[in-house]
Amino acid sequence: MFRTLYAKLAAVLLGLFLLFGLFHVASTVVTTRLYLQEVDQHVNRELASSLAKEEILMTNGRINRKALERVFHQLMVINPAIEVYLLDPTGRILAFSAPPGTVKRERVDLQPIRDFLARSRRMPILGDDPRGSDRQKVFSVAELPPRGSARPTASTPPQGFLYVILGSEKYEAEAAPLRGSYVLRQSARAGIAVVILTCIAGLVLFRALTGRLRSLTSRVERFTKDGTLESAATSSIGRDEIDQLDREFRRMADRIGEQVRELKETDALRRELVANVSHDLRTPLAALRGYLETLLLKEGTLPPEKRRAYLETAARHSESLGQLVSELFELATLNSREAPPELEPFSLAELVSDVTQKFRLAAERKRVALRATPPTELPFALGNIAMIERVLENLIDNALRYTPAGGSVTVSVEQADETLLVKVLDTGTGIAAEDLPRIFDRFYRGRSGEPKEDGAGLGLAIAQRILELHGGRIEVESTPGAGSRFRFQLSSAAAAPAAKAG
Ligand code: ADP
Repeated sequence: MFRTLYAKLAAVLLGLFLLFGLFHVASTVVTTRLYLQEVDQHVNRELASSLAKEEILMTNGRINRKALERVFHQLMVINPAIEVYLLDPTGRILAFSAPPGTVKRERVDLQPIRDFLARSRRMPILGDDPRGSDRQKVFSVAELPPRGSARPTASTPPQGFLYVILGSEKYEAEAAPLRGSYVLRQSARAGIAVVILTCIAGLVLFRALTGRLRSLTSRVERFTKDGTLESAATSSIGRDEIDQLDREFRRMADRIGEQVRELKETDALRRELVANVSHDLRTPLAALRGYLETLLLKEGTLPPEKRRAYLETAARHSESLGQLVSELFELATLNSREAPPELEPFSLAELVSDVTQKFRLAAERKRVALRATPPTELPFALGNIAMIERVLENLIDNALRYTPAGGSVTVSVEQADETLLVKVLDTGTGIAAEDLPRIFDRFYRGRSGEPKEDGAGLGLAIAQRILELHGGRIEVESTPGAGSRFRFQLSSAAAAPAAKAG
């Protein structure tokens, strides 16, 4: 029944108004009654004392019956709602104006009488009504002067009290049903009308507020179904929670769209990678199989030198196959990492010398001058030494590979502020401008390269990934025909001692 937010809000609103209405009616009834009593008591405050002044009701402890009769009669004429009682000093009822047999009490409580005589400001003061055993009413009271004196004093107690009940039974019968009052009826009607109008206004307002939520919900539903998000009907730049929700939802939808696009891109890349991998594996594998089959077929007829040549080619293919597989594995491992395994301070100058040493023979064979020029005083670098070694190897290997005989390859290290700058320069073929942005991609091989089977296009991708894991990147500049300049930076382990070049 209360499944929608609107129904819940409406129920709460109606409930609150009902509660408020009931409270208001009850408080009006009680307040009006008390107010009437207060006014009554206030207006008639002096009634008892003026009556007592008029006649001498008691002399020397005895009731003056005649005077009392006159007072009773006088009052019956002026206001029949009033009842008069004569009390002794202890509150016992001595005489009364009410019809005989209607008085149910023998005495009344003196405390309210004392409060009244002390002129308490708290009105109405309710005193015992002798005509009801547990009823209380507003009254007026006066002390009767003590024996032989005209006014009561502190030392001599009064002979008794003249106790006047103001709202008698008849009066109550007239005043009790407040609904009889025209003014009250009108005010109640006005109150009900205000409550109803406010309720209607509240319901309309809630409807409008929840309407915006409903429209947002339906838009979200549509987004869930077909992934499209239309803009809100009102383009108000609101600041309330619903507008915020709307904005946040829109942001979330954009983010989801972005992620879906990224996922699609990654998926396309993955598919391309699988295609490349299978192609790159298939080529050397097919060549390998071709040579081996030829060897098998012509086992007895092949001259030994040819056999040897076939075997050597097959071995070369199997080697490049092995290298490709291990490079792929290396790249996959690097890609799954968030950071290098461990960073340590190491001497970059020593590492550069060691790596160039490894390539010295190959360079001599190619007749390329390989130079390493690290300065003798250099702070330690901070990085993973095995990984940085791999980067240097890949860069020097490429430089040698793409530099023809007579050229040179130079590896240098410089200190720049807190970092160490490594450069690998060659005077080789250079890289075509259209290839430059893509040479770090997996499997990308430049068109103006050396024989294809030499590299799988993974070397630079691996080097770049390693630098990324170190928080840096490799940069390249190249002039086709003149050579290439690769460089990267490593942070220096500032606290580490200076290293000597090896
Ligand atoms: P590969 O195994 O083919 O060398 P890399 O990822 O190492 O793969 O390099 C990608 C491409 O970048 C190479 O095919 C080549 O065209 C180009 N390249 C890399 N280094 C050099 C260089 N020093 N001089 C000229 N071209 C280079």
